[in-house]
Amino acid sequence: METTSDAARRRRTARDAAVAEAVRQGLLGATEPLVGLLDVDGLLGTVAELHAAFAPAPVRHAFAAKACALAPVMRLMAEAGMDCEVASPGELRLALAAGFAPGRIVYDSPIKTVAELEFALAHGIALNVDNFQELARVDALLAGRPAPAPLGIRVNPQVGRGSVDSTSTATSTSKFGVALRDEGATEAVVQAFARHPWLTRIHTHVGSLGCPLPLMAEGVAAAHALAERVNAEVGPRRVTGLDIGGGLPVNFADDTDTPTFAEYVAELRRAVPTLFDGRYDLITEFGRAIFAKNGTVASIVEYTKTTGGRRIAVTHAGGQILTRAMSMPEAWPIRIDAFDAKGRPKSGPTEPHDIAGPLCFAGDLSAVARDLPVLEPGDVLALHDTGAYSLSTHFSYNSLPRPAIHGYRTTPAGETTFTPIRPAQTITEVLTDSGTTHTDSLVPRPPAVEGISPS
Ligand SMILES: *Cc1c(COP(=O)(O)O)cnc(C)c1O
Repeated sequence: METTSDAARRRRTARDAAVAEAVRQGLLGATEPLVGLLDVDGLLGTVAELHAAFAPAPVRHAFAAKACALAPVMRLMAEAGMDCEVASPGELRLALAAGFAPGRIVYDSPIKTVAELEFALAHGIALNVDNFQELARVDALLAGRPAPAPLGIRVNPQVGRGSVDSTSTATSTSKFGVALRDEGATEAVVQAFARHPWLTRIHTHVGSLGCPLPLMAEGVAAAHALAERVNAEVGPRRVTGLDIGGGLPVNFADDTDTPTFAEYVAELRRAVPTLFDGRYDLITEFGRAIFAKNGTVASIVEYTKTTGGRRIAVTHAGGQILTRAMSMPEAWPIRIDAFDAKGRPKSGPTEPHDIAGPLCFAGDLSAVARDLPVLEPGDVLALHDTGAYSLSTHFSYNSLPRPAIHGYRTTPAGETTFTPIRPAQTITEVLTDSGTTHTDSLVPRPPAVEGISPS
């Protein structure tokens, strides 16, 4: 069995080789100064670990599409035996396009419209309603017909917050689900099961990042206790499924996976000893813990300078691709390794550097006063643990294009091979996304001066 440190060593070796090979092949360089790299072997290893941790319990593992909404990656996940959790019409269509059968998709979202609910019900897609108004909509759409797929209700166990407010979804005032500790709310959920035979699942997702395992397990315990209560009061087997969400935190300090899925399962067994006794179909929805450590953003250092005594390296990796990390640097510290212009690990005396991104916004720094070997133009920086909520979560600030993303694998002979996952966005696409097909709509006259062709 591979140990944690073996896995960390493999990850590092494969990633260093991928950076060097990307430079050698020109996937990263003067004309493509920013690139996303996905460790395909690592990703498949993580998926295998997830399945092994919950085995032999028959658990369905849906990955959260929003963490890495890239069609080839989603297709790979479908092949690897994962289900898919989606939270918008775009993610739902993407999951279908990536080859997920409707029965392997779970649709969560706090804002499903009537049309979206009709689509999901017509296609037999499982969904979790967020609130009682949505429950009434689904009831009206079903009009007495049996459920075409498992239908659940999201509850907020209000167990409290983790260390990151914006990713804590089980606080007393979180915007998600029915808050169980509010006056009369638990009774109302029990009543909903009594009234609606189509309702068979309870869903909870305590939070992402910064939530300690006991807090997550406490949320699952509350959902389980509610299921037990419904089954005791309304009738046996009224709740048949428990969707326990995702939220496993990720270690941003080094290459090891900690906490592990196995540690979380042990915590769940402690908190809810009967969770795995087979009475409930279990569904998980991990996102960050599957993707984060298997992705790298790599950039060329374009310029270096010294300002106020501080070394600054200006790179192409900023808030446009590390959107969530850059908005809260204290919650998402980014590990950075430096390589020379040939992609070889850089050594030598270190100096504190600020690593700047390309955005015209002063907070666009991926690291502040970070000790790195003295950087020069043309060097390469690899920003680690950036495989979740970044490669597919571009922010079009400054009309910067989305970079290309490549998957990499290591052959038995130790060679790195690349597969394209998403091409870089072209300047023409950037313009179209900014409305150039309607340029004259506010001034019904073509521009007086012919522009320079963008392509
Ligand atoms: C985002 C989300 C997840 C995944 O959360 P991670 O922290 O990435 O594991 C799972 N379920 C729901 C409902 C979500 O919104």
